[in-house]
Amino acid sequence: MKVLSGIQPTGPIHWGNYFGAIRQYIALQDNEQAFYFIANLHALTTVREPAKLRDWTHDIAIDLLALGLNPDKATLFVQSDVPEVSELCWLLMTGAPMGLLERCHAYKDKKAKGLTADAGLFTYPVLQAADILAYDSDTVPVGEDQVQHIEVCRDLAGSFNHEFGDVFVMPNAYVLETSARVPGTDGEKMSKSYNNTLAVFEDAKAQRKQIMRIVTDSRPMDQPKEPAGDVLYDLYSLVAPTADREAMAALYRRGGFGYGEVKKALADAAEKYWAEPRTRRADLAAHPARIREILGDGAAKARTKAAQVLRRAQDACGVAQR
Ligand code: ATP
Ligand code: MG
Repeated sequence: MKVLSGIQPTGPIHWGNYFGAIRQYIALQDNEQAFYFIANLHALTTVREPAKLRDWTHDIAIDLLALGLNPDKATLFVQSDVPEVSELCWLLMTGAPMGLLERCHAYKDKKAKGLTADAGLFTYPVLQAADILAYDSDTVPVGEDQVQHIEVCRDLAGSFNHEFGDVFVMPNAYVLETSARVPGTDGEKMSKSYNNTLAVFEDAKAQRKQIMRIVTDSRPMDQPKEPAGDVLYDLYSLVAPTADREAMAALYRRGGFGYGEVKKALADAAEKYWAEPRTRRADLAAHPARIREILGDGAAKARTKAAQVLRRAQDACGVAQR
């Protein structure tokens, strides 16, 4: 399989991003040929502060490496370092039906909320298609919510192939297990936009404070409770070793404990779980030249591949002179 996935540098990554996506992307590097890119061109549709966009792009590279992305196995690069993708995007744009894009939910949702969308958001699925097709990717790991965009990619690739010959490899969505729908500190889905996140690389003390503030229900302490679905238990399950998780589940079912204890156990487990990546991150952050080198090498590899695919597409549709 040739796997491709991107992550937007729109802020510090949180537990939801890690357990819902990043952890699973990284695991694929062991058995598949993997390309991972930092989607700064996509992020530009929402992040309009240059310093932030630059910092978050750099930071997320460090985050991914600290979490186990191995640049000797996978190709890690920044989206805008491969300008071939933007050229390919235009070729795809010329055949992209308006109706198809109008049905895409990122745009539709924004319009439904009465917000004004720009052409960047409207055409975002086309750039995403170019991202995928530029590397002949056949497998795109995504959450349920992104399946539609992969369908758009297949539509665009299919009609280009139909018109101009066999240019693009048809990608397939590889839907990640959705069991990891991580709840936020307010019990809703953890999300940057809801301001309810636990950041992966938060300082341990600050994280403990956030955990202590998690909203719990007002159930009397002595009543037994089903653990699954409880915010504290669900978060605890992600970071605690199996034996501790089972002991905690038994405690819930027995009753007679306070949420304060559970929060403390959660904070302890979280501190242990993230300790190693945090140490690795500090070390990586102290060596910015190494990060630049990794991203530079990644971009060079990605460009070589993207240039071949772009050339194929240009040739086929007649914008390249023979
Ligand atoms: P935004 O609020 O801007 O949508 P976000 O915090 O939801 O940001 P995304 O950029 O939408 O993060 O998501 C990045 C990846 O992390 C996606 O693959 C998404 O499925 C996954 N993800 C985000 N939040 C969660 C969550 N709470 N549980 C599981 N997976 C999540
Ligand atoms: Mg989201």
